[in-house]
Amino acid sequence: MSLFSAYEYRKQPGFDMNAFHGANEAIPMKTLVIHCFDPRAVEIPKAVAEYFGDEVYPGENILDEAGNRIGHTRTLFSETNAGGRAAFALESVAAMDYLFSVQNVVVVHHSFCGTTTLTPELLIGEFRDHYHADIATMFDHDSLAIMDYEASLKHDVALLRSSPAVPKHVKLYGFFYEISTGKLTEVVRDIPA
Ligand SMILES: [Zn+2]
Repeated sequence: MSLFSAYEYRKQPGFDMNAFHGANEAIPMKTLVIHCFDPRAVEIPKAVAEYFGDEVYPGENILDEAGNRIGHTRTLFSETNAGGRAAFALESVAAMDYLFSVQNVVVVHHSFCGTTTLTPELLIGEFRDHYHADIATMFDHDSLAIMDYEASLKHDVALLRSSPAVPKHVKLYGFFYEISTGKLTEVVRDIPA
């Protein structure tokens, strides 16, 4: 046992990893929203929850009699990264599907995103010239900058649909979010037959 191992589920008496059927009874998660970590875009998960109408967000903790946090009522989770790109969120989709029954994955790109100030080549060149580091092949090239919102949303939904990390039954959506008005516009929808 190391310092914090008492806080691991796998170390709890009676917990059997091989019999674990997920945590949906504790948290009824069904939707993952991928968006930019720009603080001006922080209301995106709430806007998506309102758009769908059947989501609980932000929800609240569920406590046991001792006050331990044993669950939550939230149904919609958010994953943030630079630009809100699907390529950088694939591991989260896979991990969330193991823990929960992911039904929807939503990509939201927002107006005046920092990633519209650059191109993939400028970012790669910055690391080459200033840090003598080659990041050219580390990442999905077209995910390094948003060159066109419609194209970036279509790219990300197509990337999710073709990824083995995204179960084929998952419904995919791409939205544009205007940061000043909070207006959400659906641009792409990919619902499996
Ligand atoms: Zn942004």
